Amino acid sequence: MAVAADTYTQKTDEQKAITEMVRQFADNEIIPVAEEYDHEDKFPEPIVEQMKELGLFGVTIPEEYGGMGLDLTTYAMIVEELSRGWISISGVVNTHFIGSYLLMKFGTEEQKDHFLPRMATGEIRAAFSLSEPEVGSDVQGIKSTAKKTDGGNWELNGQKMWVTNGLLSGLVFVLAKNDPKADPPYKGMTCFICEKEPGVDKVPGLTIPPKIKKMGYKGVESTELVFDGFEVSEDRVLGGPDGVGQGFVQMMDALEVGRVNVAARGVGVAQRALELALRYSQERKAFGKPIAQHQAISFKLAEMGTRVEAARLLTMKAARLKDAGERSDLEAGMAKLFASESAKENAEECLRIHGGYGYSKEYEIERIYRDAPLLLIGEGTSEIQKMVIGRKLLERNKI
Ligand SMILES: Cc1cc2nc3c(=O)[nH]c(=O)nc-3n(C[C@H](O)[C@H](O)[C@H](O)COP(=O)(O)OP(=O)(O)OC[C@H]3O[C@@H](n4cnc5c(N)ncnc54)[C@H](O)[C@@H]3O)c2cc1C
Repeated sequence: MAVAADTYTQKTDEQKAITEMVRQFADNEIIPVAEEYDHEDKFPEPIVEQMKELGLFGVTIPEEYGGMGLDLTTYAMIVEELSRGWISISGVVNTHFIGSYLLMKFGTEEQKDHFLPRMATGEIRAAFSLSEPEVGSDVQGIKSTAKKTDGGNWELNGQKMWVTNGLLSGLVFVLAKNDPKADPPYKGMTCFICEKEPGVDKVPGLTIPPKIKKMGYKGVESTELVFDGFEVSEDRVLGGPDGVGQGFVQMMDALEVGRVNVAARGVGVAQRALELALRYSQERKAFGKPIAQHQAISFKLAEMGTRVEAARLLTMKAARLKDAGERSDLEAGMAKLFASESAKENAEECLRIHGGYGYSKEYEIERIYRDAPLLLIGEGTSEIQKMVIGRKLLERNKI
């Protein structure tokens, strides 16, 4: 491996400055209001407006398009800090980041010129849509179709599910089957760049039903998209004419960086649960001393802290390998699996440490406990990560 172990968590001066800025932003602007937005399930518009001003929608978009041109490692550091504040905030940038990645890696010059400058400022935000009511993990099993019209456009039909930022995004990267008979199925799948008016729930060929009610990850909307003859022009096939039939491969590539992104979210959530547990356990007294001084509690803290460190190391390693142009599929899977499980475990331990108050909506951990399980599902469940990790380990260690 080209990356030395001791460099995984080191930061350049630029990375230190930007993560410190985002940490302060989370402390001052996100954490104090997260509960309010969560309880009302309200989109955090003022926070998103500030994020636009900070340039957070263009972190990885090249400078020539108006972005910051930073790498995946720096992006992961930023995502950790945002998620430490509230994972719904990182959810607003997450799908946008995947959309920008798809365009930067596979888009035509015209597509990049058309979308990236407005994406860099956050003027338009992106979503991506693979999942359907009957299909999530088994992406090749999607049923949505795309067929050529006599006028040369593509017509999309089918129902999509769980589209994060589905209503308020201005463009959605939609995976559909242009050749439902293709064998293997992935060869007949194409990614379409669907433009729409943010916030409008009905346009010709597309209906967006009311947002799905969720246990956590509130504020940011997850919606269905119902396509019924929605027309997409030929030049909005991702990658142009050569992109027809490439959608599955393009999306799987993007999900690999998406996994690093979810891992970073896991680190942020696990870190915040640790901070809350450290504080509460030193304040709360039981049997004549702070509960932190009971060994059972200090062991919980020890395990929580160790999880955070290990999750961060795995995440940084996966991000740095990707930035260095090395294979990172195995590492991204490991980071996503471990960091998301760590977030869920730290949230539960922090809730236990809070005793009855952990179950009260007055305390931040109640929200974190509901938010954390999302990370076990998105960008591939833990079971799917284990399948990927097992397969990659065997591939790399053939006898
Ligand atoms: C809040 C939220 C936001 C989301 N945002 C988006 C989004 O923006 N865009 C998008 O496209 N999707 C999104 N998703 C969908 C998400 O990617 C899927 O839910 C996920 O991929 C799992 O698919 P599924 O829910 O259909 O579960 P299924 O695939 O039906 O799986 C059900 C269970 O079976 C297990 N399982 C499945 N196959 C196997 C196997 N071969 N071996 C062992 N176990 C298996 C799974 O691990 C899981 O435990 C979102 C989901 C949520 C909850």
